[in-house]
Amino acid sequence: MESFKFYHSSILIVSGIHGDEPAGDIVSSYFKSYPRVRVLSDINKSLKRRFNGKDLNRHFEEKGEGPIQKNIEETIEELSPSLVIDLHEDDEASGLYAYCSSSLKDLVISALREGDLKIASSVHGEKSEEGVIINGKQPYRGTLERYLKRREIPYITLETPSSLYPLQERVEAMRRVVKYILRNF
Ligand SMILES: [Zn+2]
Repeated sequence: MESFKFYHSSILIVSGIHGDEPAGDIVSSYFKSYPRVRVLSDINKSLKRRFNGKDLNRHFEEKGEGPIQKNIEETIEELSPSLVIDLHEDDEASGLYAYCSSSLKDLVISALREGDLKIASSVHGEKSEEGVIINGKQPYRGTLERYLKRREIPYITLETPSSLYPLQERVEAMRRVVKYILRNF
């Protein structure tokens, strides 16, 4: 009953884990009415990277995990999504890039091209493959990505270069990338 399973499988978009990365919440709002898509947005409303002094994306399944992470984990357990897209921004990035499960590499390389921004050739000291990083030190301890990888749930973490482009351009780029992923996944 493979087709039955596929029909009912859903894609979860997560945005705003870091409160100072506004593009993701704007982009995820475009996809709220898409079939098969569930959105968890505006997670960290502090407008800062950290929430109550903690980086939320370093405390999944770690000491210091709180109700925000628990809520995301419960949603993932209930939904059992076939893909999770986590939207972020990086003010040190030299271009658009993504971390993802290895099975999604080709899809994500194509999707990043749709963004039509400069692509980061390396990210925090690690070389990317056309903007995509599938191994190296990633995913870090305590990240949502590590949580997903442990459960073998495919994931894509998109990062826009927030110091290189104005918000509107980042939003448009991220929107095109996500749209491409949803159409081609
Ligand atoms: Zn972030």
